[in-house]
Amino acid sequence: MGRDWGAVFGVADEADLFEHFERGAYRGREYRYLPDARHGVERGTAVLGDAVVRGFPSIPRVLVLDPGIPEFFDGPVTVEEKLNGYNVRVADVRADEWGAGDRDDPVGPLAFTRSGHVCRYTTEVVREGCDLDAFFADHPDLVVCGELVGPENPYTAHDYDGVDSVAFRAFDLRDRETGDPIPVDERRALCERYGFEQVRSFGTYEPDRAVDAVADAIDELDERGREGVVLASADGADRLKYTTSAIHRSDLEHAFALPFDYGRDFVFSRVIREVFQAVERDEDPAETRERARKLGESILLPAVETVKAVDRGEVVGEDHRVRGDPAVLDALLAQFRDQGLDVHVRDDRREGDERVVEFVKRAGATADKTAHYLEGGTLDE
Ligand code: ATP
Ligand code: MG
Repeated sequence: MGRDWGAVFGVADEADLFEHFERGAYRGREYRYLPDARHGVERGTAVLGDAVVRGFPSIPRVLVLDPGIPEFFDGPVTVEEKLNGYNVRVADVRADEWGAGDRDDPVGPLAFTRSGHVCRYTTEVVREGCDLDAFFADHPDLVVCGELVGPENPYTAHDYDGVDSVAFRAFDLRDRETGDPIPVDERRALCERYGFEQVRSFGTYEPDRAVDAVADAIDELDERGREGVVLASADGADRLKYTTSAIHRSDLEHAFALPFDYGRDFVFSRVIREVFQAVERDEDPAETRERARKLGESILLPAVETVKAVDRGEVVGEDHRVRGDPAVLDALLAQFRDQGLDVHVRDDRREGDERVVEFVKRAGATADKTAHYLEGGTLDE
């Protein structure tokens, strides 16, 4: 297609950039996506014919609120809840932009996952749950960014009060092509106007005052087993994240339930987050000891359960349940298998006109290594 991609992405050598893109297809139409950040272009950027949907930027983290927040921001900061699900961008790519030979059947709003895949399952969920047509009729060049949360979630399942299956919560509106965000107040007002449910706001504060506001929000969220907060400058351009002890433990439980697949990648970063949190909160020795006990339990207990499960001959991996249109769930399972995941269906049933599938993404390394060690295999360490 005839666009100057070098200018669009601000790179000198467009061929060099496009080498890193991979090919995907959505209902017979091809697109390209960038699974890792390259040449200053964000991970998850997708190119569909002449249309571009920029990736969602990575958000830096602070380990101490004070002076982390006042060092990072020099104006008012809005504190919003960080939800634990998966990142989704929704854009209305039109058939005339996408081209694809002589096809001109409508495309409709598409949902992109973090790595830039168009996910048919997520696309159906957001089309059903949000009034996208009204929004895109007025704002065709924006992308709606949000988190898909809830227990019936094929990527990151986590319970939220009031969400029985899955739900979309908006946290950003950005220009589809430049990735520039809309200012926070305007974004919240637009989401409200079009009826998009959005992440909770804990208010807007000067940076010095935000320290205490975040500490209070974190206390409440920690108590309720929630993930944390994301802070944003008024223009939406600068962001920072900070998370609860509850989610550090929950991440570790998840990782050490599959120790040889995820354990190593998770443990150091979560321990470090706990260390700085314990120090900043000026805990007494008994409180820190309690933190240590809970941290240790979140590592050891799930791993012990998994080794026992392998010993009993059970399939181990990440368990998920999804519900929806039968053909869409077929597409979801096919997508996972195409990505090389070893998907094992535990149960597949109808509930009314919906199909409900319970499946596990098998954790190969954990299954194999655990069996090997249980049979007396040795380690070189
Ligand atoms: P990265 O570090 O590249 O952002 P990650 O998946 O490890 O990747 P997280 O630690 O989960 O990142 O934090 C960033 C993600 O948090 C965002 O990509 C977004 O999906 C999610 N998120 C949840 N709630 C919010 C919110 N209120 N504002 C912004 N992002 C949010
Ligand atoms: Mg996340």
